[in-house]
Amino acid sequence: MSICRLIQLPGRIWKGLHSQGLILLYHRVVTLDTDPQLLSVTPEHFAGHLEYLSEHYDPISLSELYQALKSGKVPDRSVVITFDDGYADNLWNAKPLLEKYGIPATIFVTSGHINSDREFWWDDLERLLLLSDQLPGQLELTIKGRRWNWDLSGYPESETRHGDGIEPKSWNVTMASDPGPQHAVYRDLHRLLRPLSHEEQKSILSEIAQWAGAPRTGRKTHCPLTVSELKELNRGDLIEIGAHTVTHTMLSMQPVDVQRREIIQGRDSLEEMLGHPVQHFSYPFGSRMDFNRETVGIVKGAGIATACANYGLTLIGSTDPYRLPRVLVRDWDVEVFSSRMKDWFNE
Ligand SMILES: [Zn+2]
Repeated sequence: MSICRLIQLPGRIWKGLHSQGLILLYHRVVTLDTDPQLLSVTPEHFAGHLEYLSEHYDPISLSELYQALKSGKVPDRSVVITFDDGYADNLWNAKPLLEKYGIPATIFVTSGHINSDREFWWDDLERLLLLSDQLPGQLELTIKGRRWNWDLSGYPESETRHGDGIEPKSWNVTMASDPGPQHAVYRDLHRLLRPLSHEEQKSILSEIAQWAGAPRTGRKTHCPLTVSELKELNRGDLIEIGAHTVTHTMLSMQPVDVQRREIIQGRDSLEEMLGHPVQHFSYPFGSRMDFNRETVGIVKGAGIATACANYGLTLIGSTDPYRLPRVLVRDWDVEVFSSRMKDWFNE
């Protein structure tokens, strides 16, 4: 670790001595009735963020940031916008606003979900557990050889019994309590499904769908991109496409050969669809627990230029391009967003 990385943490002390940049992480731009993982920003709020950034900061592309890192100096107050996963609303709602303000963005796409009529597993889990009209009282599942049993017999009364005054629709995972038993089951299953392989997740979700009496096909509002939408998203100079594995697996839980396949095939299939090189990558989930030294080695060996994580704050000239810090942006109005920006930049 270089001296610069060590002194990056007490940023206040070094303000003025080091120029700093920031990478923002979004997932979706859409207005939804429910959003338990807080992945969506409304188009109104996103427009507010972009207007504020264009007036007070220096928005640059990830490729420009990469060039800057190679020279060892990040342009001061530079901000890079990124999106993870590859939802269709990135084309329909985010791109027109990015174009309106002339702000570039990199969108990291999970290649195996392109053209799929299935939702991402976390959205499926929400649909099946939190949006089903009536659920049976008992749920039994075997996960990784262990038998799990949940009692939901409080349902459906819980729909009208607002625990601690929480409306079920406005509930999200950051809240300390749950409006009904199905919310507690959702929390458990989210934790249990997260480290599993895509095949294991698919099979458990099929069991849950059968139990809930719900279809496996996804909601139109939660569609991943199609190939033609991906190409349309990439058209023009503002939006770069980056890779985000094939199945959005938690890489640190997978053997090295699976990690390699997920990273390289994910990148290669995007290149095939787009007809040009894909240089950037983001680690699924992106916390320090979600990828490891082998993962970083594979990404480097694949000739990928940068890899984004999901932790940390600002970056400086000596930041590791394979562990780029990013900050998660929530559905904030411009006042909250501007105060977060000032906090992040120690202003
Ligand atoms: Zn992701």
